Amino acid sequence: MENKLNDQKISSTIETEVLVVGAGNAGMMAAAAAAEKGAQVMIIEKEDSINLLRLGLAGVGTNAQKRAGMTIDKYELVEYLAAFAQHNVDEGLIYHWANNSAEAVNWVEDNILKPHGAHLRAEPDSLVTSSAYQGFSTENDPTIDDETFVSYGTWFQEKIAALGVNLSFKMALVKIIKEGNVAVAAIVKNISSGELIKINVSKGIILCTGGYSANEELLKKWNPLALKKNVYNDSPRNNGAGIVSALDIGAIKDEEPAECIFDRGLVPVGKKTEEMYVQTATYEDWLWLGSHPLLKVNLRGERFANESVPYQFTVNAASKQPGYLYAMIWDDNFDEYAKQFHTLGCARVGFPGYMANAKKLREDTQRYVDKGLVVQADSIEELAEKLQLPAENLKKTVLRNNELVKMNIDKDFGKEAYRLTPINKKPYYGCILGGRILCTSDGLRVNKKMEVLDANYEPIHNLYAAGNDSGGFFFGSYPDRVPGLAASHAQTFGRLAGQSAAK
Ligand SMILES: Cc1cc2nc3c(=O)[nH]c(=O)nc-3n(C[C@H](O)[C@H](O)[C@H](O)COP(=O)(O)OP(=O)(O)OC[C@H]3O[C@@H](n4cnc5c(N)ncnc54)[C@H](O)[C@@H]3O)c2cc1C
Repeated sequence: MENKLNDQKISSTIETEVLVVGAGNAGMMAAAAAAEKGAQVMIIEKEDSINLLRLGLAGVGTNAQKRAGMTIDKYELVEYLAAFAQHNVDEGLIYHWANNSAEAVNWVEDNILKPHGAHLRAEPDSLVTSSAYQGFSTENDPTIDDETFVSYGTWFQEKIAALGVNLSFKMALVKIIKEGNVAVAAIVKNISSGELIKINVSKGIILCTGGYSANEELLKKWNPLALKKNVYNDSPRNNGAGIVSALDIGAIKDEEPAECIFDRGLVPVGKKTEEMYVQTATYEDWLWLGSHPLLKVNLRGERFANESVPYQFTVNAASKQPGYLYAMIWDDNFDEYAKQFHTLGCARVGFPGYMANAKKLREDTQRYVDKGLVVQADSIEELAEKLQLPAENLKKTVLRNNELVKMNIDKDFGKEAYRLTPINKKPYYGCILGGRILCTSDGLRVNKKMEVLDANYEPIHNLYAAGNDSGGFFFGSYPDRVPGLAASHAQTFGRLAGQSAAK
């Protein structure tokens, strides 16, 4: 890379005080915050649009939560998050998020949503404590009518333009230049012309390129299991450029992987995980019903875990089974069962928009029957054959499932009785499922100013990271019972990085 760059001439040089790399959840917040503090800000984005600004935003003590009369115990929440990560995190950073999240979420509401007649709606009903998981009502959703979501990316773009931020598309970070211990410039490629541009910075570079889930080579190196248990990547923009460019100048990153996985990737029958790592930014082949606590079996047709757990846990449990994939089996009453499950998060029936009611769940499922990714049958033998599962094992498992329903107790895996559902109404349904990685979340080590650290845990001056380029916050699986945490971690720390860099 170094030699090639030396051979290719820099065609022009730009001066700015703050350079933000990546116009996503962290980057847009960083740019706005730095500009609000009076800095001259440039933000570069390698695609021709900003990334989707996320809808569920976690916060502790937000104005929306206050209006809904809700309080979240910060100490209980932070201890939960640290314990979830087995304390393989910088707990001070988690408190830093909890202490600053409301300010960041309120800023979005006051500056981006309210001028357009929208607001944030808190979710008091998401509080739950069950044997399998605890949930916190942290999410704040942008809405106008309290029923549907509104997207706010365009409004955000208008806001940063009004603040004087220079947003340039089709510009990709290639490398950072450090003099002594100070980041002084970035080499950037104009993707349309192929030219290299040098951007000199006097105050700071903020890395917000969103992790590395689109880079299979980096996944092999840092998180090889992710390539086995995920069959889709839903963040094709995130190729690790921010993290790699900082490591190249002496930064350090988390030593263990962390990732956010949803459990609803539909796999064509007969496909193996190693034949699939489909990069998609759409919800294609994403079965919402897959996140419901219906009967799940391994590729031998045997039940292997309590299905009543957070999204990622089922995928983790399947990674201990042959082939890393699993099948879900259900019957024609599924839209009725869905009403009794009280699932949380975006797959629950009643979630605004696409999962607003049980009818929408049935329509979504039918789409995949039509596509051949969900199969139907009038007997369990036929279903097993269509799914390429051992018929005798599957028959035994379904029989046992129906026995447990009659007994009203899950003697095998402890699923709550109200989530035990029979398989006795034809047609029967089945599909093969695998994980969908939303993002990686192991990143560059940062301090509370969001400065990137070197091998001595000292800051590399004028170099900042936020969002999934920054680490110390997650370990292993994503705690999805703290809904909106990934987006809020990005937005809150983006805002703090912007404020630090502007100083
Ligand atoms: C389908 C889906 C659903 C999700 N749902 C939720 C949710 O409900 N709640 C939640 O909390 N989180 C959710 N997440 C996760 C959340 O979106 C991420 O954690 C968050 O977007 C991370 O923000 P970021 O700024 O680090 O990265 P991003 O928002 O991904 O932004 C990174 C930007 O950097 C750009 N970029 C990359 N490389 C370069 C380069 N070399 N030069 C210039 N620009 C570059 C990318 O194009 C991108 O625009 C979801 C993710 C997905 C994929």
